Amino acid sequence: MTDKANIVVIGTGGTIAGQGKAASNTSAYLCSVLGIDDILATIPHASLPANLRAEQLLQTGSENFGNAHLLAIGQRVSTLLMEDDVDGIVIAHGTDTIEETAYFLHLTLKSAKPVVLVGAMRPPSAMSSDAALNLYDAIAVAAHPGSVGMGTLVVINDEIHTARDVVKSSSFKIEAFSSPYGPLGYVIEGRPRYYRHPARAHTLATPWTVERINSLPQVDIIYAYGALEPALVDALAARAQGLIFAGTGNGNVAAHLIEPLREAARRGVHVVRASRTGSGIVLRNGAQPDDTYGWLAVDDQVPSKARILLMLALTQARDWPSLQAAFERY
Ligand code: GLU
Repeated sequence: MTDKANIVVIGTGGTIAGQGKAASNTSAYLCSVLGIDDILATIPHASLPANLRAEQLLQTGSENFGNAHLLAIGQRVSTLLMEDDVDGIVIAHGTDTIEETAYFLHLTLKSAKPVVLVGAMRPPSAMSSDAALNLYDAIAVAAHPGSVGMGTLVVINDEIHTARDVVKSSSFKIEAFSSPYGPLGYVIEGRPRYYRHPARAHTLATPWTVERINSLPQVDIIYAYGALEPALVDALAARAQGLIFAGTGNGNVAAHLIEPLREAARRGVHVVRASRTGSGIVLRNGAQPDDTYGWLAVDDQVPSKARILLMLALTQARDWPSLQAAFERY
């Protein structure tokens, strides 16, 4: 045998597993049709950086992923990471919600072994598809010693992102992913180059372990606009344990929505003020008096990932100081 790393490549669907009728179909194509073996077969040099083992876990677009999918992926990855002859994992995933799955794994896996999520913006059948290069780069990153202890990573478009920061910020471009503080590194000629480490706690340093989580609490997101009606807040507050309020600007709340959100908090719903802007900080007691209203502030996390963090935090705590601390720490 060689001294190459042993990497398991897991297929879940997405554009990276998609197929169009013509090479010009960069937008209109079928997603989640190619198996992970078929995708790997299109990359002649895929096994250069690592010994590969392929596994088809799911075959669906990531827009369909609910909490059960997160738990299923997390539990399977966790089991694989415990095997002595597995050095790292690559997960081929639809790009739509890759950041949510990645952040969930980043917070709940108890291993320093590299876990890398990868997607593509153009299916393998399209001209200038990014599927093969992204997958090759992801394998190279998972096999690289510098990736150990970095938490869950997302590799796409020559860049290595930490799961905590990365967001999909374009619906169609090849350069669809960005992190507000930049990527951790690049991949060039199949060789990863790191420039920095994730600053916030992850994997081994969090209190959450995926095997110990059987279900996740209901947390919903409300997208704010001036004409948003209190009835929508009331309806979600009646069913949710947590609400991420994606407010305007720095987490502003329209005057007519303050009382409905205060009432939700009084009834025990954990209300988190976030921002619909896509980046920046929502400061506790900044735009709104959170101490007085019984609300939480998101720090710098985007609403989709704040939902993941609040679900996890609620599996262990209900008091506001612990929940607020989670937003400052992870
Ligand atoms: N909507 C599909 C998904 O998230 C395809 C998007 C993609 O992979 O780029 O799986």
